[in-house]
Amino acid sequence: MIEPSTAARVPRPSKPAPDSRPGLSGLPDGALEAWLAAEGQPAYRAKQIRDGVWRQNIVAVDELRTVPARLREGLERDFRVDTIATDEVSVSDKGLTEKTLHLLSDGALIESVLMHYPARGLGEDGRPEHRERHTLCISSQAGCAVGCPFCATGELGFGRDLETAEILDQVRHAARRLAERGARLTNVVFMGMGEPLLNLDRVLEAVAALSDPRRFGLGARHVVVSTSGVVPGIRRLTALNPQFTLAISLHAARDPLRDVLVPINRRWPVAEVVAAARDHARVTGRRVSYEYVMISGVNDTDVDADALAGLLRGDLAHVNLIPMNPVAHTPWQASGPQRVTQFAARLQQGGVGATVRRNRGQDAGAACGQLAADRAGEPPALVVAHRREVIVRQSEAALRGDRSVERLPADLESAVAGRAGDR
Ligand code: SAH
Ligand code: SF4
Repeated sequence: MIEPSTAARVPRPSKPAPDSRPGLSGLPDGALEAWLAAEGQPAYRAKQIRDGVWRQNIVAVDELRTVPARLREGLERDFRVDTIATDEVSVSDKGLTEKTLHLLSDGALIESVLMHYPARGLGEDGRPEHRERHTLCISSQAGCAVGCPFCATGELGFGRDLETAEILDQVRHAARRLAERGARLTNVVFMGMGEPLLNLDRVLEAVAALSDPRRFGLGARHVVVSTSGVVPGIRRLTALNPQFTLAISLHAARDPLRDVLVPINRRWPVAEVVAAARDHARVTGRRVSYEYVMISGVNDTDVDADALAGLLRGDLAHVNLIPMNPVAHTPWQASGPQRVTQFAARLQQGGVGATVRRNRGQDAGAACGQLAADRAGEPPALVVAHRREVIVRQSEAALRGDRSVERLPADLESAVAGRAGDR
């Protein structure tokens, strides 16, 4: 979730040359052992290096004190210990939310958000009923081709896929900061910039590293992968029977409106997305989460609630209602608290479980992607005005029930072509 294209708005004088050395954290299982063998090094060094990467969260080879200098030189020559050049952290919510803008080696900017949830309530045994949690929201792509109009990342457009190590190094950076205060990361959600199912191979490699006890060691049950509805990708996941939670960003239960709010709907409409999610829940036995960003007067009426309840009733599913974080290029506002509560109650009466989620980090730049957008500078007023006008026109037509006749935007068409996880 981010704002209009950095490239479109601020011409970069010269792009740093991309570093072709693979990131250490993204190496597939066995690759380190093969490299050590080729270097004539003993196999037990693999564990020392892995522990450095995953327990110590090293960001420079000098921090790897357990291995000899010659081996450190070899590692430095062939790999990047860290794929992130710099971090800029902004703290909000009285310290409970930390947004980080990460600069990658080729100049791309991505974001992650670390959210702290203190322990809550005391059980009969005097222990907290909800243990302290530290959840990290990470990016899978720089920018996003899907182009949801309420999303700051969507406005940025597509930059590029992240490498596996670039996904994982966001996690290692957060874990490193947490370790300084004696805490550990408890949950990772793929809800930052980008569409994870359009970079699925790397996302799967990253999840494998996160849940591998020899690497990050986080149970897959503590991972959520969110998608805007890339149906072949969902079906591919289902076949793998993963232990992580699948979240679907629905935002509208009716096609005409979802065509506007989540443009990939023109390729895979609501019924196909929900059918794939339903099969996923049946095969994996795991409940699917539906995300529903609430936009005042656009998708928050009783008619929308009833359509949503009708769609999901009887499914192994749960809806998270999220009042929209305001973004510069839309005229839309978040639904008011009362409307959100009424919408949730109506869903529940209709037989569908729903929870209202609080927005985090509004004072640190609202939705994920806004730090990068701010860095890119405000788009010209005329561009913003035009964008707003188009969004209003499209959503008014959608609210009348007119199905969009627009094709997929060209960059989204090419992003989904052959990259949607079809095998
Ligand atoms: N591309 C994937 C994952 C990243 S977006 C997806 O869409 O599922 C993660 C979540 O943030 C999505 O549910 C998205 O709809 C939500 N989001 C984006 N912009 C938002 C905004 N302005 N306010 C609240 N949530 C937003
Ligand atoms: Fe934003 Fe997700 Fe839509 Fe992409 S798919 S534009 S990241 S909400």
